[in-house]
Amino acid sequence: MIEMNVNVRSIEPYKLVSQDIWRGKQNIIKADWNEEFFRNKKVEKVIINFVKKGLYSYYPDVEAKELRETLSEFHSIPINNISVFNGSDEALDVICRTFLNQGDKVVIRNPEYTNFYVFVQSMGAVLLKHFQKNPFVLSKNDFLEYLEREKPKMVYLSNPNNPTGILYPKEFLKSLIENFKSTLFVIDEAYVHFAYEKIEDMDFFLKLSINTSNLIVVRTFSKLFSLAGLRIGYIVSNEDIIKALNLIKKPKNVTMVSQIAAREAIRHWDFYNDKKIEILKAKNYFCNKAAALYFVKRVYNSNSNFVCVEVKEEIDIHKTIEFLKKEGVYVRDRSYIPQLDRIFRVTITGFEQVEQILNKFYKLENRVLNK
Ligand code: PMP
Repeated sequence: MIEMNVNVRSIEPYKLVSQDIWRGKQNIIKADWNEEFFRNKKVEKVIINFVKKGLYSYYPDVEAKELRETLSEFHSIPINNISVFNGSDEALDVICRTFLNQGDKVVIRNPEYTNFYVFVQSMGAVLLKHFQKNPFVLSKNDFLEYLEREKPKMVYLSNPNNPTGILYPKEFLKSLIENFKSTLFVIDEAYVHFAYEKIEDMDFFLKLSINTSNLIVVRTFSKLFSLAGLRIGYIVSNEDIIKALNLIKKPKNVTMVSQIAAREAIRHWDFYNDKKIEILKAKNYFCNKAAALYFVKRVYNSNSNFVCVEVKEEIDIHKTIEFLKKEGVYVRDRSYIPQLDRIFRVTITGFEQVEQILNKFYKLENRVLNK
């Protein structure tokens, strides 16, 4: 075989979830990839109208002008501070390709969103995982000391974190950004909508990034906005960083269908906000019920739309996940991630889904108790 790129050769690939949903199994409960699942008729209408006009034959608006205008108004930030991407994964990849050189240090706090590791490693940069005593509790001092020691080129944090669901305190993160001026902070806010009630709180770092030299905020339409399949995300940062990213970003990569759907979604923020409130209630209900089960050691409630479930020592986690899958409930195995052994993650999409998942949990519980 032709020799591969030296950095790509040694990459540990991102572990994908089951693709059964696309293989004819449509009745499954998909709680494995943190997608929300609900329909917005207004969004569907603009997509259908666009398709009917046949305008998909043209390349999309390479500037995503109207979507950026809508985002600019929604966040009250200038349009030139926004760049739109084919999902936040693409945005993260472009960030790494724009800023990382061979050997550069990139710090994450374990555990993190593992797909990001691939983007770092493909640049030949060094991924430094900071392990703390308890992955579900942030030790600020340890993290600070680690950054002082390593002086990395980049720090990547999903906030709220995927998979723990913890939220980094605003003032702490802000002080890191201010104190490590030569480090580029990439804050991935895929789940930020679930963490706060008020838009002002959600947009804290987004606003800060406009006039900060070393901060990039990444957002997506894949979670609360329920548009994962349309692949759309965006970056907010200072103008110089946006210009730098635009040098290599693929301009034709965000389809017009995605752009108009995202724009329509933003216009109906109240609809999504109501959905969020329902999801969070369902999540709390799920946590209470699941925590009472024998096979469950602990449920980690989160600041997001998912929770981590830890099974007891005597329970085989792989068999548990396999059992749930056979019953049609697909959850995300996190047990191979250091510090998360015996943990799987469950995406919460609403009360009906939670009841369905709990029913399978009760079935599992009966099996365990009757053994
Ligand atoms: N960032 C985080 C933290 C995520 O959890 C995910 C999806 N699981 C992504 C980014 C990718 O989102 P997108 O669909 O926008 O590429």
